[in-house]
Amino acid sequence: KELPSDPVKENARRQVKEACFSYVTPKRTKAPQILHVSREMANSLGITEIDIETETFTQIFTGNQLFPNTTPYAMCYGGHQFGNWAGQLGDGRAINLFEVEHDNKLWAVQLKGAGETPYSRTADGLAVLRSSIREYLCSEAMFHLGVPTTRALSLGLSGDEVMRDMLYDGNQAYEKGAIVSRVASSFLRFGNFEIFAARKDHKTLKTLVDYTIKHHFTHLGTPSKESYIGFFAEVSKRTLDMIIHWQRVGFVHGVMNTDNMSILGLTIDYGPYGWLEGFDYGWTPNTTDSQHKRYRYGNQPNIGLWDLYQLANALYPLIEETEPLETVLENYKTDFENKSLEMMRSKLGLEQSDHKDSELIQRLEDVLLLTETDMTIFFRNLSNFKLGDAGKGLQIVEDSFYVPNEVSDTIAQQWRDWFKSYDVRLKDESLSNTDRKERMNAVNPKYVLRNYMSQLAIDDANKGNYKLIDELFQVLKQPYAEQPEYEKWFAKRPDWARHKVGCSM
Ligand code: AMP
Ligand code: MG
Ligand code: MG
Repeated sequence: KELPSDPVKENARRQVKEACFSYVTPKRTKAPQILHVSREMANSLGITEIDIETETFTQIFTGNQLFPNTTPYAMCYGGHQFGNWAGQLGDGRAINLFEVEHDNKLWAVQLKGAGETPYSRTADGLAVLRSSIREYLCSEAMFHLGVPTTRALSLGLSGDEVMRDMLYDGNQAYEKGAIVSRVASSFLRFGNFEIFAARKDHKTLKTLVDYTIKHHFTHLGTPSKESYIGFFAEVSKRTLDMIIHWQRVGFVHGVMNTDNMSILGLTIDYGPYGWLEGFDYGWTPNTTDSQHKRYRYGNQPNIGLWDLYQLANALYPLIEETEPLETVLENYKTDFENKSLEMMRSKLGLEQSDHKDSELIQRLEDVLLLTETDMTIFFRNLSNFKLGDAGKGLQIVEDSFYVPNEVSDTIAQQWRDWFKSYDVRLKDESLSNTDRKERMNAVNPKYVLRNYMSQLAIDDANKGNYKLIDELFQVLKQPYAEQPEYEKWFAKRPDWARHKVGCSM
């Protein structure tokens, strides 16, 4: 991009009109320190081991020094929050540093928590260590799980203190300020498009859509109604694929507002997210959503569709026809049925398709819901099932029950019935026990970032001990592998962590 020779940088809060972004300057911090670096991510950006150790790296990725000839900016976006149009939101605590091309891939690098921008509204533009550890660990874990996601490059301390309301007691307290540098091909969200449609600024809307297609959906060709429809169809497909992955690994995003939905179908904005422990369609980690549970696990696919309706409305002025947009939305529904079934088959180790599979899966979900059953442990251990051994089924998965006593005789009988049907169904498959186990273990992770795990890392970090951050980072790099040295992380949530949930601020 051509930059103006002397761009106006202005961080003050305001409504920004007819512009996709504003030039800003990251805040200088008192005592910047890098706590952890994702070497895999650094490598993808062409940053070497030697670079990482330099003071320049620390300065740049905490916002204290600018990379030569770059001009940081914050993006303007709006969004529907919990179903309601919220007007201008924008990068209130994210600042884009620069874009990098490496190995023929384009990456945007941004800091989260580097101070106020025009979009900070009533907040401070800062982030605390607690939420930064959660984003840092989870986004890299998701990448290694094979889930489309924004990435993290580094986790740093600003050296400043940040004031936060404590959710538990309503009091205020100082916490350590932190900065995560995060990376994606693009951080554009549905809300970037919605804001211009809401303001009836169709000129800027077109500029942004044309830019997005040119740089990120190049194969769709030059601007035309067809390419705009193709664009919407592809965003819809990517959004669905991402959500199917979430359902597979038991990830609950927690705030699927349209400003948190990536135009590239990447998991973005790791706030109050959580991982299913007990399998439960009604579970949400977001305490501010505990009444309606709009963003509960079982509702994520529906919300993806709802959010796509908002994007369709935003793109409509450039297309001026409802039918092609509606077709895309209809396809989402049928694709969801098919892809969801396919995903569940893979979790059960079924390669063929049988018309009674949906029923088998439905029955499994029904039994899973009878007592609190750990989703990750259940599916991982299910791969130990051996053909013709239905009688052993229950024993194979019993480690996944939180309260074994709750498995009454009737429930145990339901499990035995289900395992009998599963065993019968497996007879149509040609895989050996060993091969089936291998395939199942490639889609059913052994290690996920359970909420209590990040909490332990946070508690240590607040005391100045950062070792556990590295340990969890290392385990989660190979979520599907057996890692005997880390077996302790393949365990049910301990009792003390039962009602604790993460926090987004
Ligand atoms: P979220 O709920 O995290 O998606 O945030 C919604 C909006 O609030 C976005 O525009 C964020 O940039 C903004 N925001 C969240 N936290 C802060 C903060 N500490 N300072 C400034 N803006 C924030
Ligand atoms: Mg957000
Ligand atoms: Mg957030």
